[in-house]
Amino acid sequence: MQHTEERTFIAVKPDGVQRGLIGGIINRFEKKGFKVVGLKMIQVSDEQAKAHYAEHEGKPFYPRLLRYIQSGPIVAMVIQGYNAVAGARHIMGSTDPNKAEVGTIRADYAQVMEYNIVHGSDSVESAEREIKIYFNENELFPQGKCMSELVIESLDAD
Ligand code: UDP
Ligand code: MG
Repeated sequence: MQHTEERTFIAVKPDGVQRGLIGGIINRFEKKGFKVVGLKMIQVSDEQAKAHYAEHEGKPFYPRLLRYIQSGPIVAMVIQGYNAVAGARHIMGSTDPNKAEVGTIRADYAQVMEYNIVHGSDSVESAEREIKIYFNENELFPQGKCMSELVIESLDAD
């Protein structure tokens, strides 16, 4: 059985950065066995904000969402691993922290949907689109297989 890896775009949003939760959030993904293959702190530009949230243009919360994502620096990440897109969303919890399961990042660290401290791509296609908005390929370091050998490849030996 072949376990192919996916990559996904994750961001600690400005409220997470300001509240000192960068390390705590990254740790959740690392503990799962996902690998951080790209990482940087940036101020999101107008172009990046609009491109990132294009699907939400016209919705009532859109202007506020753009202001939110640009309200301070974010920590942008690319995370790689088996089933990383859905797996990361599972770790993050539902968009509304009040509906997110206890133990997820949003349930544990956030109170309202407008300040839900973390972003994660919702599909492999979204992930590839979003990664391009924030990273050049030469800023990503997917080499090295030790994590996947330890976490999933032992299954493939059967
Ligand atoms: N959001 C909001 N109000 C809403 C829906 C969404 O403020 O009613 C914000 C929230 O920060 C959310 C982001 O817009 O994370 C993107 O919404 P989406 O539905 O894509 O949720 P996500 O994929 O982040 O769980
Ligand atoms: Mg989304």
